[in-house]
Amino acid sequence: MRADRVIAVDLGGTKILAGVIDHDGRVHETVERPTVTTSQTALLDDLADVVRSLPHDGVGAVGFGIPSRIDHRTGIALGAVNIPLRDVPFRAEMERRLDLPIAVENDASCAAYAEFRHGAGQGVQNFVMLTLGTGVGGGVIAAGSLFQAWTELGHMVIVEDGEPCAGACSGRGHVEAYCSGRAADNLAKKLIGPSATAHDLVQDRHPVLERIGHHLGVAMGSLVNIFGAERIVVGGGFGVAAFDQLLPAARLAVLTEALAPAGQELEIECARLGASAGLIGAGLVAFEADA
Ligand SMILES: [Zn+2]
Repeated sequence: MRADRVIAVDLGGTKILAGVIDHDGRVHETVERPTVTTSQTALLDDLADVVRSLPHDGVGAVGFGIPSRIDHRTGIALGAVNIPLRDVPFRAEMERRLDLPIAVENDASCAAYAEFRHGAGQGVQNFVMLTLGTGVGGGVIAAGSLFQAWTELGHMVIVEDGEPCAGACSGRGHVEAYCSGRAADNLAKKLIGPSATAHDLVQDRHPVLERIGHHLGVAMGSLVNIFGAERIVVGGGFGVAAFDQLLPAARLAVLTEALAPAGQELEIECARLGASAGLIGAGLVAFEADA
């Protein structure tokens, strides 16, 4: 069956956003509520409840974008930060509750896929999105298909033995430690004052953004060398706000780090779909589950 519509769910650490999505990636009815974090069962029940609360006319599948590593073969959610999901057969649990085909994908990959199909990634075949929010996430499209794998792009090493990563990551010198909104917040406190945030760096057009842009470009250079990315899109709250100020230094670093001619040819653009990218992408993977 080819459905006219699907229901998409974007599960975040603090809120659940769900909506009805059509073939063109348009978002229709939506519903939003706080994320239940009391237990895994309560969360799964609540997710099913959110889906049931939306109109089901013409709906053929449900797609979930979740902040977790996923075993795509089995549909198991391997573990999320701040949300009670660990080693749970997510796809099977949702199929049982909703009696519809279920797709499950990492949330950052969903956002990348949405930008590729309906946003700033249209027209190329090899595409990477980097999301600079509190942390750094990302997704890869290779030869026109979503690369369904690890893609923890924020934890790529760009400085050997560099700054430590925050949270559960034990690594050092990762992109996230230099280019995330949290990293920029910390720099703002150090350089401007204790109450300053990344927003103030952008507002002041602070020269430290050039250094962050350089780190970002070093990461992009490696992504070009590994995935042959023709275009890299920068999203996320901090990434979009600071994009224009990060771009010149990032562009220069790409020219140094990426092999010619890929470095010169790389297009770097700002994300277009905003906060709904994850929801739209969850809808797109649902259509593929239904196909
Ligand atoms: Zn890390």
